[in-house]
Amino acid sequence: MTNEVSPLTPVLTKRWLSPRSWTIGTYEQLEGYTALRKALKAHPDQLIQLCKDSGLRGRGGAGFPTGMKWGFIPQGDGKPHYLVINADEGEPGTCKDIPLMMADPHSLVEGIIITSYAIRANFAAIYVRGEALHCIRRLNAAVKEAYAAGYLGKDILGSGFDLDVVVHAGAGAYICGEETALLDSLEGRRGQPRLKPPFPATSGLYESPTVVNNVETIASVPFIVNGGSDWFRTMGRDRSPGPKIYSLSGHVTNPGQYEAPMGTTLRDLLELAGGMKDGIPLKFWTPGGSSTPLFTAEHLDVPLDFEGAAEAGSMLGTTALQIFNETVSVPWAVMKWTEFYKHESCGKCTPCREGTYWLTQILQRMVRGEGTPADIETLLDICDNVLGRSFCALGDGAVSPITSGIKYFKDEFLALCETNAVSTGKHALAGAH
Ligand code: NAD
Ligand code: SF4
Repeated sequence: MTNEVSPLTPVLTKRWLSPRSWTIGTYEQLEGYTALRKALKAHPDQLIQLCKDSGLRGRGGAGFPTGMKWGFIPQGDGKPHYLVINADEGEPGTCKDIPLMMADPHSLVEGIIITSYAIRANFAAIYVRGEALHCIRRLNAAVKEAYAAGYLGKDILGSGFDLDVVVHAGAGAYICGEETALLDSLEGRRGQPRLKPPFPATSGLYESPTVVNNVETIASVPFIVNGGSDWFRTMGRDRSPGPKIYSLSGHVTNPGQYEAPMGTTLRDLLELAGGMKDGIPLKFWTPGGSSTPLFTAEHLDVPLDFEGAAEAGSMLGTTALQIFNETVSVPWAVMKWTEFYKHESCGKCTPCREGTYWLTQILQRMVRGEGTPADIETLLDICDNVLGRSFCALGDGAVSPITSGIKYFKDEFLALCETNAVSTGKHALAGAH
């Protein structure tokens, strides 16, 4: 395998356009549950090794090696093991997991059964955003169909393996997408992040070993079982193999989900999406939701995989590509994202709780035309006190649009403030107050 990205025959999305693709009948006609039959004949450790060999990495944003995570689950510890699916898709611009669950929920259910068998879990939960009621209904219907067909419940397909799956509705808090806050919420408490370590793999749901994986990650598992690790590695790049669902939104001609090999560039994705809307040139974009530093038109050829995005100064994140054309003000967009983080900050730690409040105040003031050039330094100073000093990734993510926005578009922030400084004579009003 090389670092060249090859074209992709659809994998994860291959059933999406089939009639009634979400039903077990269609799923079974299109190779559904064949991977499960194969997996149940293997030893669980062989499945963990297969996943490690495939190089599959977490599709929730962080890219942690999936097989390694499964391998962390202690065996023979006498404790129950759990699988929890993080379906609380909430990162701004991210819309890959909900479409996947709507179009092909059985690929997730089959992946859950195989993964649970591999990690020796007899209980799995799918934690879904409460607002996605249509998705909750569809998942519940798929789980019911899987029970009726003998793929869930006792002695699955005569293997002696038992598994129960529940679909759990969250209540719409972005922080519950953070895996430990999600676990707290699942246990019935207010969702707030826990201290890590211990990681969920050793102490997760009810303090038992728990694998928490993203929807797209687990939906990839049946394909790996059927196709093998070498086949999976024919797609994508060396350290980030496999197919990926990229979601494009904003100023593109045809926004939506586009499956492509890991490492595909925005230039190629834009071609799939019909180019920039109305031909108005690209100004800035997020590679993986607003928690990842912004890119500009200079980054059109960055390979969008974990390494490529990082080497270019951002992160792959959730592959939520929000595309903005030249008509959009960067300080305005940054302010809107910061308002979101302020609203969603859980309040547990001071840098994020207070920092997002003050960042919002300053940005709103700037956008109202009441800022000063010194506000830019104050913004950066607050960001410096939030980044790396917050309890969870939300704080770090919150400052990404601000620091990257100022890095690439400082003149635009300055122009807002200087116009004002001249017109109002507020040069001396520096600082956050
Ligand atoms: P992380 O790097 O801390 O952890 C990633 C995963 O690896 C977790 O499951 C963690 O338990 C596991 N892990 C890491 N080190 C481990 C170790 N030593 N032992 C055992 N397990 C270990 O990242 P995170 O805080 O879980 O997630 C941050 C990411 O979430 C960001 O990249 C962001 O893009 C993404 N995100 C996604 C959404 C969404 O809607 N999908 C929303 C917000 C943020
Ligand atoms: Fe809560 Fe923000 Fe602190 Fe995370 S960083 S624990 S969301 S206050």
